[in-house]
Amino acid sequence: MNAAEMDIARRLNGMPVSPGIAVGEAHIIERGMPDAPEYCVTEAYLEDERLRFLRAIDQSRQQLDHVHAHLKESAEKDQDAHQYKQELVYILDAHRLILEDAMFQKGVLGHISEHRCNAEWAVKRYLGEVIAVFQNMEDAYLREKRRDIEQIGQRILHNLMGNRYNAFAAFPNPVILVAEDFTPADTLLMDHEAVLGFVTEAGGSTSHTAILARALGIPAVVAVPHVTEQVRSGDRIVLDGISGTLHLSPDDEEQAGFDARRKQYHASRAALLEIGGAGVETPDGRRVGLKANIDFQADVVRAAELGVDGIGLFRTENLYMNRSRLPSEEELVELFTNLVETMEGKPVTIRTLDIGGDKQSEIFLQRLSHNPSNPALGLRGLRLCLKSERAAFFTQLRAILRAGAGGDVQIMFPMVTRLAELKEALLLLDEAKKSLRLEEVPFVDNPQVGIMIEVPSAALCADQLAPYADFFSIGANDLTQFTLAVDRGDESVAELYSPVDPSVLRLIRMTIQAGDMHHTPIAVCGEMAGDPRYAVLLMGLGIDELSVTPERLPLIRKTICGVEYRQAVDLARTAMEMVSAEEITDHLDRFLKAAFGSAHRLY
Ligand code: PEP
Ligand code: MG
Repeated sequence: MNAAEMDIARRLNGMPVSPGIAVGEAHIIERGMPDAPEYCVTEAYLEDERLRFLRAIDQSRQQLDHVHAHLKESAEKDQDAHQYKQELVYILDAHRLILEDAMFQKGVLGHISEHRCNAEWAVKRYLGEVIAVFQNMEDAYLREKRRDIEQIGQRILHNLMGNRYNAFAAFPNPVILVAEDFTPADTLLMDHEAVLGFVTEAGGSTSHTAILARALGIPAVVAVPHVTEQVRSGDRIVLDGISGTLHLSPDDEEQAGFDARRKQYHASRAALLEIGGAGVETPDGRRVGLKANIDFQADVVRAAELGVDGIGLFRTENLYMNRSRLPSEEELVELFTNLVETMEGKPVTIRTLDIGGDKQSEIFLQRLSHNPSNPALGLRGLRLCLKSERAAFFTQLRAILRAGAGGDVQIMFPMVTRLAELKEALLLLDEAKKSLRLEEVPFVDNPQVGIMIEVPSAALCADQLAPYADFFSIGANDLTQFTLAVDRGDESVAELYSPVDPSVLRLIRMTIQAGDMHHTPIAVCGEMAGDPRYAVLLMGLGIDELSVTPERLPLIRKTICGVEYRQAVDLARTAMEMVSAEEITDHLDRFLKAAFGSAHRLY
């Protein structure tokens, strides 16, 4: 291999989904059982294998106790994260129960004797059988329980092999996580202080995992082919979340280059933050609302400090992940009231439960009667709430209404596909008000109630939906996915995914026209709103408001304040005549470069 080839071999390319540069040790998160040695042993060594297994159990127990204590302590210190850390403690308790289960220990010891095999092989064999039983269970909740068994199995095997093993929840040193994939629930489980960045083989730029990475400010690169085979735990790597590259074992010179880039990144961010939170208006006087998308409660404070017109999207589904029970009405009221108080009178748009697709919660999974063959198109979002989770939905509605007594709360329904659904949801909302009135509990009687336009059917019939909605918020992430039939989290079709495909833009334009006809304000809360190129285009199409992840607020503010509205209208007019996403993206890139210079980067 010559020097240039070596260089390419040490650089892996993927898709940048959360900006920033992380330098550190890789830590591979393995799915399934690790590649453990399998061999037969003679009678004389059977006792040794049994003892090795029992020692690994003991070691695993000590590790769990250690993580348990760490979590308990940090849950007490960190009130914001108290609830979810408490839930992690429950998960660890479940792992401990499996470890201590006499049947389990007897089963593995039995395999060692019966098959005369080493302890690793016996653990894999025995747990493989147990997992297969769980996998075939009718009950979705029990089916999911195989994850716990898998995780505890991984821990024991790593301990048998003498490998360092870390669960998501506790790393002794900060690491860059490398995995085939993470679910949004996994992302919530990470100890955010100890994760410098993450890299996955799977994923797309608007997958919920990517959205969470941006919300957490963790640099991330997804869609890196075979990364888990090319990097080992402990390798020193550099993750560049701006260009989407991963560099293996950088030498001193390269390292210095990355350090300089990292400094430049932080300096640009700091300069953007200095622009402050003044109103967002183009130089020729067009006002565009700028709100924040919030995934974690803690982000609300950050958004409020950065100066926004309100919260345009509060995703409630995270409150239902990694938990063993549903949040109570009181818990939700407390949390929503906290949001409202932090925003000091500015509107807070709370989206009702949008679980399903790539966002799963064990609680709801356990209640599904079947395994959905296509979760993105199955019982999810508002459909799930109306059909099988009415009680949870009703609790949410009551909690939102109650929090509204203390400030400006707006309600938003996700995944509306037809008018009948919206009408049914509104009826339930009326029921929730009635019940609160009867109980003489204070609540807001007349909150603004809007819907997400994120399915082509809703965009196509936006004129029929508009009379029943106080506002529209275009969910461009799903709208793109469903219009182009491209899974937003599937790296193999990621290059086909573009929110500026002419078909998606036509649906956005239709929605705007329908909204204008009925005087319904229109926001965009999909990730495209946080990309300066697309933000200008949306403004030119006549969007009233953009709602973006807090990390993007300064950049989008700077963009809007730096472009004349009439220029944006011209830009949009030309874009709408173009026939491909590539042509439109080029056109937008050129415009942005001319307006701000090439330094106006995607961070
Ligand atoms: C969207 O689909 O654009 C959206 C904002 O909702 P989510 O990303 O939560 O699906
Ligand atoms: Mg959506």
